[in-house]
Amino acid sequence: MLALAVLLLATLARAGDVVVDVLDVGQGDAILIRTPAHKNILIDAGDKGSGVVEELTRLGVDHLDLVVSSHPHADHIGAMESVIRALPPKRYLDTGLAHTTQTYRSLMATIEANATIIYQTAQTGQVFNLDDRARLEVLLPDSARRFRDTRSDLNSNSVVLKLVHGETCMLFTGDAEEPTERALIDAKIGTCAVLKVAHHGSGHSTIQPFLDMLRPTIALVSVGLGNRYHHPGHGTLARLEQAKATVYRTDRDGRVTLTSNGKSIRVTTFKREDPGGALLPVAKVPKSDTPPLVPTLPKSIDPEPELTPDVLEHEACPFAASRKSEVFHEAGCGNAQKINAENLVCYASKEAAEKAGRRSAGCCKP
Ligand SMILES: [Zn+2]
Ligand SMILES: [Zn+2]
Repeated sequence: MLALAVLLLATLARAGDVVVDVLDVGQGDAILIRTPAHKNILIDAGDKGSGVVEELTRLGVDHLDLVVSSHPHADHIGAMESVIRALPPKRYLDTGLAHTTQTYRSLMATIEANATIIYQTAQTGQVFNLDDRARLEVLLPDSARRFRDTRSDLNSNSVVLKLVHGETCMLFTGDAEEPTERALIDAKIGTCAVLKVAHHGSGHSTIQPFLDMLRPTIALVSVGLGNRYHHPGHGTLARLEQAKATVYRTDRDGRVTLTSNGKSIRVTTFKREDPGGALLPVAKVPKSDTPPLVPTLPKSIDPEPELTPDVLEHEACPFAASRKSEVFHEAGCGNAQKINAENLVCYASKEAAEKAGRRSAGCCKP
């Protein structure tokens, strides 16, 4: 059975295929994208102890070109620092919104300490060209229109990515919530065959009009077995069923592998219990079919996607203060975002802000 699976996959993953693995990391998200030109992209890393580094090693991933943190909750970045240490990526993308946890601070310190990693804030309109026929588009967040005072601002401002490979489309939504989905409806992003269901299938996401627009045929739910949040929600599953999307869940199906040839998508699943199931070097492109690696840039990730000055300001601004005030805020704090650009003072660390004579703001208590 296992040998058959290997054979099948060897047949499935041809040169030109883009392979996406929704890794089985329990309650959390970790998604690996591999392109024909050997670009490896990781979206989220799962929580501490998710085993994501081991899983990447098992899958034969020896480098990461781009790592995206959808938002700084522990079930998405808990194991991110171990990923960054084991496989320092060329580029690291996040929402630019800080979190108060030690996990977040330690992760950012590790990224800052590694001079080879290019840190970048995600911004609507950025496009990473992965290959001739594959590109990753940043749909959200839009730094000019961040979601504020929502049920969870960190979730609502998740990085939303659209992977386009030829005629196929996959949407990665982090823990986006209703306001995020409404913004995507307003932006008229249109249909997309594969939906990584937001927020582990929570009832705060996957609203009906969003499904009506996307019309997904494949829905991916990354979720831990028997998780205490009762994800995925019954309502979400009912809406997906109603939408006639085939649902794959990591708690039941294990790792879910999607192979796109640019026209259609095949799905293969690997249960962890399957002895060695997770050990398969899935979709390593057969050597003979491997396209030559050109050291120049046309096929690689766009080194400098368009950035607005606003975004650039945010990048170096984990702690923010107004020239007119004695206090400083976390970048993600609602009050930090109300500071006018001309009054904005940025600090790389809390210590730097304190040294400059500012005190912690009462609203976000950085
Ligand atoms: Zn979250
Ligand atoms: Zn989450």
